[in-house]
Amino acid sequence: MPSLRGSMTVPEVLLVVGLLPMTITVTMLATARAAEPRRAADLVLRNGRVVTMDPACREAQAIAIRGDRIAAVGPNAEVQRWIGPRTRVIDLRGRLTIPGFIDSHAHFVELGRSKQILDLTTARSYEDIVLMVGEAASRTPAGRWIVGRGWHQEKWDRPPQSNVEGYPTHDALSRAAPDHPVVLTHGTGHMCLANAKAMQLAGVDAQTKDPPGGKILRDARGQPTGVFREEAAGLIYRAKARTEASRSPQQKRQELDEAIRLAAQECLANGVTTCCDAGASFEEIERFRQLAEQGELPVRLWVMIGESNAEIEKRMPQYRMVGVGGNHLTVRAIKRFMDGALGTHGAWMLQPYSDLPNSSGMRTIDPDDLRRTAELAIRYDLQLCVHAIGDRANREVLNLFEEVFRAHPQKRDFRWRIEHAQHLHPDDIPRFAQLGVIASMQGVHATSDAPFVVKRLGVRRAREGAYAWRSLLDAGAIIANGTDAPVERISPIECFYASVTRRPRGKGPFFAHQCMSRDEALRSYTIDAAYAAFEEALIGSLTPGKLADIVVLSRDILTIPAPEILKTKVVYTIVGGQVLYEAGSG
Ligand SMILES: [Zn+2]
Repeated sequence: MPSLRGSMTVPEVLLVVGLLPMTITVTMLATARAAEPRRAADLVLRNGRVVTMDPACREAQAIAIRGDRIAAVGPNAEVQRWIGPRTRVIDLRGRLTIPGFIDSHAHFVELGRSKQILDLTTARSYEDIVLMVGEAASRTPAGRWIVGRGWHQEKWDRPPQSNVEGYPTHDALSRAAPDHPVVLTHGTGHMCLANAKAMQLAGVDAQTKDPPGGKILRDARGQPTGVFREEAAGLIYRAKARTEASRSPQQKRQELDEAIRLAAQECLANGVTTCCDAGASFEEIERFRQLAEQGELPVRLWVMIGESNAEIEKRMPQYRMVGVGGNHLTVRAIKRFMDGALGTHGAWMLQPYSDLPNSSGMRTIDPDDLRRTAELAIRYDLQLCVHAIGDRANREVLNLFEEVFRAHPQKRDFRWRIEHAQHLHPDDIPRFAQLGVIASMQGVHATSDAPFVVKRLGVRRAREGAYAWRSLLDAGAIIANGTDAPVERISPIECFYASVTRRPRGKGPFFAHQCMSRDEALRSYTIDAAYAAFEEALIGSLTPGKLADIVVLSRDILTIPAPEILKTKVVYTIVGGQVLYEAGSG
């Protein structure tokens, strides 16, 4: 059996077990943890409340950084001597300074793509939407689709000037973006609005008949108004799919690069210095590698391969990579899905759903395929990360992992992971720690799912095993936290708040006995998340010799009253000693 803490040093064991007291003694502040400087630091941060997540020096005031590494951590007086004539010095003004957040489960490229879609939910009028589309058109190459989502005529302050049945007509939209096809999906998802260019590409005109189950809205002269109801919207969506399938490789590359740029920007603005991508294609990984090697990947990526067994067999081992581009890219895991989601009754449960008694959800992978993936993971020394939401799915994954671990007694440190580990049978909770399986969970899913969990599972299952952080931690498991962005916003602050309060906005807590402590929540986003990726020697704590990935926050999320946590802003995001985000700068 692999030992959970097999490769950890003694202080890290103490950190995991939580034996160290939170109180900081004066002696801990007394010594800087590095030798005398031979060369001045490039950057010094001082006058902070530096919480290191390193048990050897839990709290300090200042950090000296040379190149991409932390050179010293300690009291102001000790770090002072690292300041030379060319050292940039930042006064932290007492602010909380912590290791950069590691989001253990997000979809990096999808996050970027979600930023390319216009969010129309807050529009107050049709004119607002036309303005947004015009603005998007001015920064988008002609011919490329402009996509938006979330408009709702009932939420506007006034009806559109030109309308049919209260829905806008396309004229203003077509004038704002004459050279771009535009499709804007209604908030309900049951309708879309297209401009003239999009209708032209879809071959829609006055002669086009309504498809079965759909309706093309028309004006008094019989001309399509741009509004397509239900099945009729497929005419526009299929036209979009057709044009996008014929994009040139350069266009595809350009779009991928744009998505990567937007995702990185979003990570940095939220204090995320390492993003663990829960499933990338080889094509995406190839581009990540090029960008990392050129120094153009500002955020660190740790990637799970989202390709089939056949592709992995064909193309490994060259896609296993560790520390490419100054530790900006590591690919050392495979992603699989054991089941679906709770919201759609797709999670695979041991017992039927409370609100759908004839169904227990379902498995989404052939067990032999998953066993084959496990063999590939062993062969190429990759972590296996399996999505499991339902208690049955979690049990089956634990069973498989246990079987594989037994069959390979020589391999001691697997750190295989269950992604989400959302609903657990109480009997399975201790198995995570016993087997050394990491629970890669998303604090914020608990609060956003809270409204329907009891409906789906009933009170007993929800209380005993839904997002069971406390039970897992008490049993000795490692939890890695994250957001599953773009499913949720990639905000460690919101996720931290959910992890420690389990309070959906404006509501009472969701089974508060399962809350994490603030220290545990921070660990799940820093040192434990690093451990879950085999990166604890590089990141996850502010320790001399480690990469200088640091976040400075506007408020002290470890001490302020819980409701204030959500008001916290990221002030600085530093990756490898470079200040890549400053509040007000981006
Ligand atoms: Zn995911």
